[in-house]
Amino acid sequence: MTKEEALRTYFGYDAFRGGQAAAIDALLSGRDVVAVMPTGAGKSVCYQVPALLLPGITIVVSPLVSLMRDQVTALVQMGVPAAYLNSSLTFRQYLLALERARAGRYKIIYVAPERLETEGFRSFAETADISLVAVDEAHCISQWGQDFRPSYLNISAFVNSLPKRPPVGAFTATATPDVRGDILKLLELKDPLSVTTGFDRENLYFEVQQPSSKRAALLELVRSRPGKCGIVYCATRRTVEEVCGFLQEEGIAATRYHAGLEAEERLKNQEDFLYDRAVVMVATNAFGMGIDKSDVRYVIHYNMPKDMESYYQEAGRAGRDDAPSSCILLYSGQDVRTAQFLIEHSEPREELDAVTAARLRERDRERLRQMEGYCRTRRCLRQYILQYFGEFAPDYCGTCYNCLHNFEEVDISREAKLIVRCVSESGQCFGAGVIAETLCGAVTDKVRKYHMDRESTYGALRELTQAEVRERIHCLLEEGVLEASSGPYPVLRLTEKAEDVVYGAAPLLMRTDREDRPAVRLVPTELKGEDAELFRRLRVLRAKAARFQGIPAYMVFSDKTLREMAVRRPATMAQLRAVSGVGSAKAERYGRQFLEEIQSF
Ligand code: ADP
Ligand code: ZN
Repeated sequence: MTKEEALRTYFGYDAFRGGQAAAIDALLSGRDVVAVMPTGAGKSVCYQVPALLLPGITIVVSPLVSLMRDQVTALVQMGVPAAYLNSSLTFRQYLLALERARAGRYKIIYVAPERLETEGFRSFAETADISLVAVDEAHCISQWGQDFRPSYLNISAFVNSLPKRPPVGAFTATATPDVRGDILKLLELKDPLSVTTGFDRENLYFEVQQPSSKRAALLELVRSRPGKCGIVYCATRRTVEEVCGFLQEEGIAATRYHAGLEAEERLKNQEDFLYDRAVVMVATNAFGMGIDKSDVRYVIHYNMPKDMESYYQEAGRAGRDDAPSSCILLYSGQDVRTAQFLIEHSEPREELDAVTAARLRERDRERLRQMEGYCRTRRCLRQYILQYFGEFAPDYCGTCYNCLHNFEEVDISREAKLIVRCVSESGQCFGAGVIAETLCGAVTDKVRKYHMDRESTYGALRELTQAEVRERIHCLLEEGVLEASSGPYPVLRLTEKAEDVVYGAAPLLMRTDREDRPAVRLVPTELKGEDAELFRRLRVLRAKAARFQGIPAYMVFSDKTLREMAVRRPATMAQLRAVSGVGSAKAERYGRQFLEEIQSF
């Protein structure tokens, strides 16, 4: 079987996506791979296809129980013999699974990193024919990454202990240079092929709102998407409770997820969401890793996350089926202050020396600044994201709020000159807060303490609010006229561009929202008329089939697959198989029912 045939037969897809073929070829030829691909890009195919083609077993190291279960259920649906070994199994189940693995019953085995060190697993691995080791969420190996997992450090020892070293593939959605270096070094990868695919997710729409009432904004967003699945991320458990309760009171089928709930309730709520019994999941960031529900139509952040890595990973859980989906962030200044507080008051991990701890903290501050920058920018949001991840991107995408919205451009040349003067004459040693207070002529402790009321610019922008002055300061930061120092209290400094502002003739423009802000709404390309009706019927059928099998609906077929069926209306098994997402096993299992439904329609 070729890799293309495997993709067609098991997954039902016609073509590989960017990066997949290269990664698969390398692994098949015995070469190590390190792949950085954004959430939803299709990392699992990169090791699942080789797993099907290689003679022996593929071991997938994965950090989360829910992730393993989900992946294994999906694989079994596709006709791939797979299993997982983790703490959710009883000891007897574990032994049984190992016995079957020994007997060569599985092609793919998912294991938690802690398992690799256990006696039972080691002795199994010594005699088993292991063709490939794939490390999922490989950034967990680095303390510079977001979710450090010390047990990941044992993976290389495990690989080296095998009688014959198989190729190792490392996969992650986010890897800054630090993290990438750690992955290469700590996993002891040998001359790995490096695969990076574009971070762009074309089907995602991005928007940031700064509403006066987050609740009202959220309700409006949810109500305008009736029956659509969505995730609402909140910063704290308490906010999850409040927001979920509020949505339920408003008659919305919402459920909740956070680490403070009993394991039993967490599992139940997660399943309610996966099985479409609850359409909205309100959760902390504890929810989602490994959740491959492909028809999540929107991800709303009720609070700003701490960095762009977290944001893009969480937002990326929308629209994995490639259908248009929205990622909307509800921002407030309080979110920034909370995040700052957490950074300054976090306890460094015990084993860290003071220098490393300080470096980590400064890195967190910088990440937070970048995150805040995303919330405040009026530039193309997609471009902002892609540039953050080190990619080139045009300054117009046409499918984010900032690109679709009619901003008003106001000339802030005069204000800019005054801001520059104020920063300059006060000695470039104050942050945006004090500068804004000074220019607005505020009477505060800091203004008095530092004698800012004696500056010539004191009160020079009295007609503006402090928020408006800050908005302009932010614009100057973005334009590179000002820069902010590092440290817990960033201080504004002038760059060489400041001179252009003072002496230059070109006006400085700032995009600002107009009062009569027209509501732009990106309407996903919806099906019309009969297609829509057939799509609805197919969804009903899918729900029935899923219930019968005891699996979530999206694992039967994705929304995208059903939509394609509704439009193409296959009449024969061969035509049905030509629909993207219909593999052999699924065609056999569900094909007849779906063809009949289409026929009778
Ligand atoms: P990641 O792990 O990178 O977040 P997944 O491996 O879960 O992403 O894949 C995301 C979705 O894209 C899945 O539903 C998967 O079936 C689908 N997918 C992967 N590869 C392809 C492909 N070549 N063509 C079409 N869909 C694909
Ligand atoms: Zn854009």
